[in-house]
Amino acid sequence: MATITEIRPRYFRVPLETVLSDSMHGTITHFELCTVEVVDADGAAGVGYTVTVGRNGRAVMATLDEIAEIAAGADADRIEGLWHRLWWALHYGGRGGPTVFALAAFDVALWDLKARRAGLPLWRLLGGFDPRVPCYAGGVDLDFTTEALIAQTDANLDRGFRAIKMKVGRPRLSEDVARVAAMRAHLGEDFPLMVDANMKWTADVAIRAARALAPHNLVWLEEPTVPDDFAGHARVVREGGIPVASGENLRTLGDFRGLIEAGGVSYPEPDVTTCGGVTAFMKIAHLAEAFHLPVTSHGAHDVTVHLLAAVRNRSFLEVHGFGLDRFIADPLTIEEGLAIAPERPGHGVAFDWAALQALPG
Ligand SMILES: [Mg+2]
Repeated sequence: MATITEIRPRYFRVPLETVLSDSMHGTITHFELCTVEVVDADGAAGVGYTVTVGRNGRAVMATLDEIAEIAAGADADRIEGLWHRLWWALHYGGRGGPTVFALAAFDVALWDLKARRAGLPLWRLLGGFDPRVPCYAGGVDLDFTTEALIAQTDANLDRGFRAIKMKVGRPRLSEDVARVAAMRAHLGEDFPLMVDANMKWTADVAIRAARALAPHNLVWLEEPTVPDDFAGHARVVREGGIPVASGENLRTLGDFRGLIEAGGVSYPEPDVTTCGGVTAFMKIAHLAEAFHLPVTSHGAHDVTVHLLAAVRNRSFLEVHGFGLDRFIADPLTIEEGLAIAPERPGHGVAFDWAALQALPG
Protein backbone atom coordinates (compact mmCIF):
# COMPACT_ATOMS: atom_id res chain seq x y z
CA MET A 1 0.00 0.00 0.00
CA ALA A 2 1.10 3.50 -0.76
CA THR A 3 -0.11 4.80 2.61
CA ILE A 4 2.11 7.70 3.62
CA THR A 5 3.95 6.84 6.82
CA GLU A 6 6.60 9.55 6.89
CA ILE A 7 7.06 13.06 5.48
CA ARG A 8 10.47 14.62 6.13
CA PRO A 9 11.10 18.25 5.10
CA ARG A 10 14.66 19.64 5.14
CA TYR A 11 16.10 23.12 4.60
CA PHE A 12 19.46 24.06 3.10
CA ARG A 13 21.11 27.35 2.23
CA VAL A 14 23.31 26.83 -0.83
CA PRO A 15 26.03 29.36 -1.68
CA LEU A 16 26.55 30.04 -5.39
CA GLU A 17 30.01 29.44 -6.82
CA THR A 18 29.72 32.70 -8.76
CA VAL A 19 27.71 35.71 -7.54
CA LEU A 20 24.82 36.15 -9.99
CA SER A 21 22.57 39.06 -10.87
CA ASP A 22 19.55 40.00 -12.92
CA SER A 23 17.57 43.18 -13.45
CA MET A 24 15.07 42.90 -10.58
CA HIS A 25 16.40 40.38 -8.04
CA GLY A 26 19.71 42.19 -7.67
CA THR A 27 22.83 40.39 -6.51
CA ILE A 28 22.27 36.74 -5.64
CA THR A 29 24.89 35.05 -3.43
CA HIS A 30 23.00 31.89 -2.47
CA PHE A 31 19.72 30.08 -2.93
CA GLU A 32 17.58 28.10 -0.53
CA LEU A 33 16.79 24.45 -1.22
CA CYS A 34 13.71 23.03 0.52
CA THR A 35 13.45 19.26 0.15
CA VAL A 36 10.78 16.82 1.26
CA GLU A 37 10.96 13.04 1.38
CA VAL A 38 7.80 10.94 1.42
CA VAL A 39 7.90 7.32 2.57
CA ASP A 40 5.02 4.83 2.25
CA ALA A 41 4.02 1.73 4.19
CA ASP A 42 5.99 -0.51 1.81
CA GLY A 43 9.14 1.47 2.48
CA ALA A 44 9.13 3.06 -0.99
CA ALA A 45 10.31 6.67 -1.00
CA GLY A 46 10.13 9.76 -3.19
CA VAL A 47 11.82 13.12 -2.92
CA GLY A 48 10.76 16.56 -4.05
CA TYR A 49 12.22 20.02 -3.74
CA THR A 50 11.75 23.67 -4.43
CA VAL A 51 14.25 26.50 -4.71
CA THR A 52 14.12 30.18 -3.73
CA VAL A 53 16.33 33.10 -4.79
CA GLY A 54 17.52 33.44 -1.19
CA ARG A 55 14.37 34.47 0.71
CA ASN A 56 11.02 32.91 1.74
CA GLY A 57 12.51 29.47 2.37
CA ARG A 58 11.50 29.49 6.04
CA ALA A 59 7.90 30.18 5.03
CA VAL A 60 8.07 27.27 2.58
CA MET A 61 9.29 25.05 5.42
CA ALA A 62 6.43 26.15 7.70
CA THR A 63 3.94 25.15 5.00
CA LEU A 64 5.70 21.83 4.45
CA ASP A 65 5.21 21.13 8.16
CA GLU A 66 1.49 21.82 7.72
CA ILE A 67 1.36 19.60 4.63
CA ALA A 68 3.03 16.84 6.65
CA GLU A 69 0.22 17.06 9.22
CA ILE A 70 -2.58 17.11 6.64
CA ALA A 71 -1.17 14.36 4.39
CA ALA A 72 -0.13 11.92 7.15
CA GLY A 73 -1.72 8.52 6.46
CA ALA A 74 -3.05 9.53 3.00
CA ASP A 75 -2.84 7.29 -0.08
CA ALA A 76 0.25 8.61 -1.93
CA ASP A 77 -0.98 7.09 -5.18
CA ARG A 78 -4.07 9.36 -5.35
CA ILE A 79 -2.06 12.45 -6.22
CA GLU A 80 -4.85 14.44 -7.87
CA GLY A 81 -7.08 13.95 -4.83
CA LEU A 82 -4.36 14.80 -2.36
CA TRP A 83 -3.26 17.86 -4.37
CA HIS A 84 -6.78 19.33 -4.25
CA ARG A 85 -7.19 18.49 -0.58
CA LEU A 86 -3.98 20.40 0.19
CA TRP A 87 -4.84 23.25 -2.20
CA TRP A 88 -8.13 23.90 -0.45
CA ALA A 89 -6.71 23.38 3.04
CA LEU A 90 -4.09 26.07 2.32
CA HIS A 91 -5.99 28.25 -0.17
CA TYR A 92 -7.28 31.12 1.93
CA GLY A 93 -3.86 32.33 3.02
CA GLY A 94 -1.79 30.85 0.27
CA ARG A 95 -3.08 31.16 -3.26
CA GLY A 96 0.50 31.52 -4.50
CA GLY A 97 3.78 32.41 -2.84
CA PRO A 98 5.58 30.03 -0.47
CA THR A 99 2.45 27.88 -0.13
CA VAL A 100 2.57 26.90 -3.79
CA PHE A 101 6.33 26.32 -3.56
CA ALA A 102 5.74 23.88 -0.68
CA LEU A 103 2.86 22.17 -2.49
CA ALA A 104 5.11 21.85 -5.56
CA ALA A 105 7.93 20.21 -3.57
CA PHE A 106 5.50 17.74 -2.01
CA ASP A 107 3.81 16.99 -5.36
CA VAL A 108 7.20 16.30 -7.00
CA ALA A 109 7.91 13.82 -4.18
CA LEU A 110 4.55 12.09 -4.76
CA TRP A 111 5.23 11.72 -8.51
CA ASP A 112 8.75 10.44 -7.81
CA LEU A 113 7.29 7.88 -5.43
CA LYS A 114 4.60 6.83 -7.91
CA ALA A 115 7.12 6.38 -10.74
CA ARG A 116 9.48 4.48 -8.49
CA ARG A 117 6.66 2.15 -7.40
CA ALA A 118 5.88 1.57 -11.08
CA GLY A 119 9.58 0.99 -11.87
CA LEU A 120 9.41 3.68 -14.56
CA PRO A 121 11.30 6.89 -15.22
CA LEU A 122 8.93 9.79 -14.70
CA TRP A 123 9.01 10.87 -18.37
CA ARG A 124 7.67 7.46 -19.46
CA LEU A 125 4.96 7.47 -16.79
CA LEU A 126 3.78 10.95 -17.85
CA GLY A 127 3.51 10.29 -21.57
CA GLY A 128 6.87 9.25 -22.97
CA PHE A 129 7.19 11.47 -26.04
CA ASP A 130 10.98 11.59 -26.52
CA PRO A 131 13.76 11.57 -23.91
CA ARG A 132 15.99 13.84 -26.04
CA VAL A 133 14.95 17.38 -25.12
CA PRO A 134 16.45 20.51 -26.73
CA CYS A 135 17.97 22.62 -23.98
CA TYR A 136 19.70 25.93 -23.39
CA ALA A 137 22.09 27.33 -20.83
CA GLY A 138 20.33 30.01 -18.79
CA GLY A 139 22.88 32.66 -17.84
CA VAL A 140 22.27 34.87 -14.78
CA ASP A 141 24.81 37.34 -16.02
CA LEU A 142 23.45 40.88 -16.23
CA ASP A 143 26.49 42.43 -14.54
CA PHE A 144 29.12 40.31 -16.29
CA THR A 145 31.51 42.23 -18.51
CA THR A 146 31.15 41.35 -22.20
CA GLU A 147 34.42 39.43 -21.89
CA ALA A 148 33.05 37.38 -18.96
CA LEU A 149 29.82 36.80 -20.90
CA ILE A 150 31.77 35.45 -23.88
CA ALA A 151 33.96 33.30 -21.61
CA GLN A 152 30.85 31.85 -19.94
CA THR A 153 29.40 31.19 -23.40
CA ASP A 154 32.50 29.33 -24.56
CA ALA A 155 32.38 27.18 -21.41
CA ASN A 156 28.73 26.39 -22.15
CA LEU A 157 29.57 25.45 -25.75
CA ASP A 158 32.24 23.10 -24.39
CA ARG A 159 29.63 21.52 -22.10
CA GLY A 160 27.50 20.63 -25.14
CA PHE A 161 25.01 23.51 -25.19
CA ARG A 162 23.73 24.61 -28.58
CA ALA A 163 21.38 27.35 -27.34
CA ILE A 164 22.02 30.12 -24.80
CA LYS A 165 20.05 32.73 -22.89
CA MET A 166 21.50 35.96 -21.50
CA LYS A 167 20.13 38.70 -19.26
CA VAL A 168 19.05 42.13 -20.47
CA GLY A 169 17.74 45.11 -18.54
CA ARG A 170 20.90 47.14 -17.99
CA PRO A 171 20.43 50.80 -17.03
CA ARG A 172 20.73 51.88 -20.69
CA LEU A 173 19.08 50.03 -23.57
CA SER A 174 22.13 50.75 -25.73
CA GLU A 175 24.19 48.56 -23.37
CA ASP A 176 21.77 45.67 -23.83
CA VAL A 177 21.86 46.07 -27.60
CA ALA A 178 25.68 46.15 -27.64
CA ARG A 179 25.94 43.03 -25.44
CA VAL A 180 23.42 41.11 -27.55
CA ALA A 181 25.21 42.21 -30.74
CA ALA A 182 28.53 40.95 -29.31
CA MET A 183 26.95 37.59 -28.45
CA ARG A 184 25.32 37.31 -31.89
CA ALA A 185 28.64 38.06 -33.59
CA HIS A 186 30.37 35.47 -31.40
CA LEU A 187 27.76 32.74 -31.89
CA GLY A 188 26.95 33.18 -35.58
CA GLU A 189 23.72 34.11 -37.32
CA ASP A 190 21.60 30.98 -36.73
CA PHE A 191 22.63 29.98 -33.19
CA PRO A 192 19.54 30.00 -30.91
CA LEU A 193 19.94 32.98 -28.54
CA MET A 194 17.31 34.16 -26.03
CA VAL A 195 17.23 37.21 -23.75
CA ASP A 196 15.58 37.61 -20.32
CA ALA A 197 14.53 41.00 -18.87
CA ASN A 198 13.21 39.62 -15.54
CA MET A 199 10.17 41.98 -15.52
CA LYS A 200 12.32 45.11 -15.71
CA TRP A 201 10.31 47.24 -18.12
CA THR A 202 6.88 48.73 -18.60
CA ALA A 203 5.12 47.40 -21.69
CA ASP A 204 5.97 50.57 -23.63
CA VAL A 205 9.68 50.39 -22.77
CA ALA A 206 9.64 46.64 -23.51
CA ILE A 207 8.23 47.28 -26.99
CA ARG A 208 10.98 49.82 -27.67
CA ALA A 209 13.61 47.37 -26.36
CA ALA A 210 12.18 44.48 -28.36
CA ARG A 211 12.28 46.51 -31.56
CA ALA A 212 15.90 47.51 -30.88
CA LEU A 213 16.88 43.88 -30.21
CA ALA A 214 14.81 42.30 -33.00
CA PRO A 215 17.51 42.64 -35.73
CA HIS A 216 19.63 40.18 -33.72
CA ASN A 217 17.33 37.26 -34.53
CA LEU A 218 16.37 36.20 -31.00
CA VAL A 219 14.33 33.08 -30.21
CA TRP A 220 12.44 34.95 -27.48
CA LEU A 221 12.35 37.89 -25.11
CA GLU A 222 11.56 36.60 -21.61
CA GLU A 223 9.53 38.38 -18.94
CA PRO A 224 9.52 41.80 -20.65
CA THR A 225 7.25 43.23 -17.94
CA VAL A 226 5.53 42.35 -14.65
CA PRO A 227 3.61 39.06 -14.61
CA ASP A 228 0.26 40.69 -13.75
CA ASP A 229 0.18 42.80 -16.92
CA PHE A 230 -1.42 40.33 -19.33
CA ALA A 231 -2.56 43.12 -21.68
CA GLY A 232 0.95 44.61 -21.68
CA HIS A 233 2.44 41.21 -22.52
CA ALA A 234 -0.02 40.95 -25.41
CA ARG A 235 1.09 44.33 -26.74
CA VAL A 236 4.74 43.28 -26.57
CA VAL A 237 3.89 40.10 -28.51
CA ARG A 238 1.99 42.07 -31.17
CA GLU A 239 4.22 45.14 -31.46
CA GLY A 240 7.71 44.11 -30.32
CA GLY A 241 8.67 41.84 -33.18
CA ILE A 242 10.14 39.09 -30.96
CA PRO A 243 8.26 36.07 -29.50
CA VAL A 244 7.70 36.37 -25.73
CA ALA A 245 8.42 33.74 -23.05
CA SER A 246 6.82 34.19 -19.65
CA GLY A 247 5.57 32.23 -16.67
CA GLU A 248 8.26 31.74 -14.00
CA ASN A 249 6.35 34.23 -11.83
CA LEU A 250 2.92 32.78 -12.53
CA ARG A 251 1.78 30.42 -9.80
CA THR A 252 -1.36 28.62 -10.97
CA LEU A 253 -2.96 26.92 -13.95
CA GLY A 254 -5.47 29.77 -13.97
CA ASP A 255 -2.66 32.35 -14.22
CA PHE A 256 -1.40 30.59 -17.34
CA ARG A 257 -4.89 30.37 -18.81
CA GLY A 258 -5.26 34.13 -18.37
CA LEU A 259 -1.93 35.03 -19.97
CA ILE A 260 -2.37 32.58 -22.86
CA GLU A 261 -5.96 33.63 -23.51
CA ALA A 262 -4.85 37.31 -23.57
CA GLY A 263 -2.39 36.49 -26.34
CA GLY A 264 0.45 37.53 -24.02
CA VAL A 265 2.87 34.66 -24.44
CA SER A 266 4.52 32.73 -27.29
CA TYR A 267 6.42 30.28 -25.04
CA PRO A 268 4.65 29.54 -21.73
CA GLU A 269 7.38 28.94 -19.16
CA PRO A 270 6.16 27.16 -16.00
CA ASP A 271 8.54 26.22 -13.20
CA VAL A 272 7.61 22.85 -11.68
CA THR A 273 8.85 24.01 -8.27
CA THR A 274 6.77 27.21 -8.20
CA CYS A 275 3.56 26.42 -10.13
CA GLY A 276 2.28 23.62 -7.89
CA GLY A 277 4.39 20.70 -9.00
CA VAL A 278 4.23 18.03 -11.69
CA THR A 279 0.42 17.89 -11.41
CA ALA A 280 0.06 21.57 -12.36
CA PHE A 281 2.97 21.68 -14.83
CA MET A 282 1.50 18.90 -16.97
CA LYS A 283 -1.88 20.65 -17.11
CA ILE A 284 -0.13 23.87 -18.20
CA ALA A 285 1.83 21.97 -20.87
CA HIS A 286 -1.38 20.43 -22.24
CA LEU A 287 -3.19 23.78 -22.06
CA ALA A 288 -0.38 25.28 -24.18
CA GLU A 289 -0.74 22.43 -26.66
CA ALA A 290 -4.42 23.22 -27.06
CA PHE A 291 -3.42 26.78 -28.00
CA HIS A 292 -0.73 25.48 -30.41
CA LEU A 293 2.02 26.93 -28.23
CA PRO A 294 5.39 25.32 -27.48
CA VAL A 295 6.09 24.98 -23.75
CA THR A 296 9.47 25.80 -22.25
CA SER A 297 10.50 25.72 -18.57
CA HIS A 298 12.21 27.55 -15.75
CA GLY A 299 14.55 26.12 -13.11
CA ALA A 300 14.86 22.62 -11.60
CA HIS A 301 16.11 21.10 -14.85
CA ASP A 302 16.88 17.72 -13.29
CA VAL A 303 13.16 17.12 -12.71
CA THR A 304 11.80 19.20 -15.58
CA VAL A 305 13.66 17.26 -18.27
CA HIS A 306 11.16 14.45 -17.56
CA LEU A 307 8.14 16.71 -17.98
CA LEU A 308 9.28 18.12 -21.32
CA ALA A 309 10.34 14.62 -22.48
CA ALA A 310 6.75 13.53 -21.82
CA VAL A 311 4.97 16.01 -24.12
CA ARG A 312 4.87 16.63 -27.86
CA ASN A 313 4.76 20.44 -27.70
CA ARG A 314 7.94 20.82 -25.70
CA SER A 315 10.36 23.55 -26.61
CA PHE A 316 13.71 24.22 -24.95
CA LEU A 317 14.46 23.04 -21.41
CA GLU A 318 16.17 25.71 -19.35
CA VAL A 319 19.34 24.46 -17.70
CA HIS A 320 19.33 26.94 -14.86
CA GLY A 321 22.19 28.79 -13.19
CA PHE A 322 21.19 27.45 -9.76
CA GLY A 323 22.64 24.01 -10.47
CA LEU A 324 22.57 21.15 -7.98
CA ASP A 325 25.33 19.17 -9.70
CA ARG A 326 27.54 19.34 -6.60
CA PHE A 327 24.83 17.69 -4.51
CA ILE A 328 23.28 14.98 -6.70
CA ALA A 329 24.59 11.61 -7.81
CA ASP A 330 23.95 11.87 -11.57
CA PRO A 331 23.84 15.38 -13.04
CA LEU A 332 21.87 15.97 -16.23
CA THR A 333 23.47 14.59 -19.41
CA ILE A 334 23.80 17.13 -22.24
CA GLU A 335 24.81 15.97 -25.72
CA GLU A 336 24.98 18.27 -28.75
CA GLY A 337 22.32 20.61 -27.45
CA LEU A 338 20.02 17.89 -26.13
CA ALA A 339 19.30 17.09 -22.48
CA ILE A 340 18.69 13.37 -22.05
CA ALA A 341 15.93 12.28 -19.65
CA PRO A 342 17.37 9.38 -17.64
CA GLU A 343 15.98 5.84 -17.53
CA ARG A 344 16.32 5.52 -13.75
CA PRO A 345 12.97 4.99 -11.95
CA GLY A 346 11.33 8.17 -10.68
CA HIS A 347 12.94 11.47 -11.55
CA GLY A 348 16.27 9.97 -10.63
CA VAL A 349 17.57 12.88 -8.56
CA ALA A 350 19.50 11.33 -5.65
CA PHE A 351 20.69 13.97 -3.19
CA ASP A 352 24.03 13.73 -1.43
CA TRP A 353 22.55 14.47 1.99
CA ALA A 354 25.94 14.47 3.71
CA ALA A 355 27.24 17.14 1.31
CA LEU A 356 24.11 19.24 1.82
CA GLN A 357 24.26 18.91 5.59
CA ALA A 358 27.91 19.97 5.55
CA LEU A 359 26.91 23.38 4.14
CA PRO A 360 27.18 26.26 6.59
CA GLY A 361 23.67 27.02 7.95
MG1 LIG B 1 13.72 34.07 -16.50
